[in-house]
Amino acid sequence: MCSLLKEYKLTCCEDAADTDIIYTYYQDTLGRCSAIDHMFVDSSLCHNIISNCTVESGVNFSDHVPISCLVAVQGSVSITTASKPDTKRQGRNTTCNVLRWDKGDLGAYYNFTGQLLHNMFVPYNLLQCKCEGDACTHKADINRFYNDLILTLNSAAMHTIPMVHCNSSKPYWTAELQELKEDSIQACKAWCASGKPRQGWLYKIRLHAKYKYKAAIRNAAMNFEWDLDDELSYCYLQKDMNKFWKKWKQHFSKKSTAPLHINGHTQAESIAEKFKQSFSDSCFDSYCDKSSFDELCMHLHSETEMLDASTNNVFSVSDIEKALSSLKGGKAAGVDNIVKEHLTHSHPALIVHLKLLFNIMSVH
Ligand SMILES: [Zn+2]
Repeated sequence: MCSLLKEYKLTCCEDAADTDIIYTYYQDTLGRCSAIDHMFVDSSLCHNIISNCTVESGVNFSDHVPISCLVAVQGSVSITTASKPDTKRQGRNTTCNVLRWDKGDLGAYYNFTGQLLHNMFVPYNLLQCKCEGDACTHKADINRFYNDLILTLNSAAMHTIPMVHCNSSKPYWTAELQELKEDSIQACKAWCASGKPRQGWLYKIRLHAKYKYKAAIRNAAMNFEWDLDDELSYCYLQKDMNKFWKKWKQHFSKKSTAPLHINGHTQAESIAEKFKQSFSDSCFDSYCDKSSFDELCMHLHSETEMLDASTNNVFSVSDIEKALSSLKGGKAAGVDNIVKEHLTHSHPALIVHLKLLFNIMSVH
């Protein structure tokens, strides 16, 4: 073992850090424990270990206790590395996923966005330069600035906010289970704060809360199954086969949202084409609407006239702040995957960037 560690230049975190790990496996009923899990890092990182500890959470029903190791790594985060999420996460992105802002590290998201926004290239020159004639040649630069902002917010969220599949919550989850879960977490925190004693009332309270929560989950899951069994048996005994198979498919078959036919089209390609046509018919290039375009230009021009000639600021910081504060939560993201929380939990530098973006857009 020693020669293997030497060969691959590995150091055990417990040897390198000030650690209080006594066990990583604890069998509550028998009171047996052992330290069977270890974490290793490259020897060059052994002085960078900040902490190495076990994680007691109150929601872990296993006898194994997870270990956590915090290592400081030199270098700043860059947008290039942040833009390359691991393939597993990328794969999950294609399906229906939601960011759990309530479970995320909002402080880390704030710092991450602050750092990324600080390092971002900002095309200040676009605020001053004018378009040549009617045609604007700066669209690509404006789009790049917008895309960088989106990439920054999405990258920061990807590294700090957990993402779950939208169907990951249990169908039998209730407010009562949530309460028991919180009780178990609180009991565990109190037990940890008093030095994780293996006897006494705090220990008993912790175990009691944990087992109560565990039993409640098991019962809720079983009741859910039984209710389904009852419903299926009832339909079967009533010889209501339509209802029986409907219920069966609802719970046991893979969900397929593909409709059989849309406007007489049955093939996926022709349905997609139909959707494309429908969206194309209801959307148009606003540049083609000459009268509205001229009206907007006149409006923006008159706004700019009133302002200081040296600054092309149609929008102020307070305009952006006002708009952000009036955003409503719980809305679906657009094509850029940005939701309200991306903006409101970000470093305030974002407001300055948004102000710049909108002012640049108004100039061109
Ligand atoms: Zn332009």
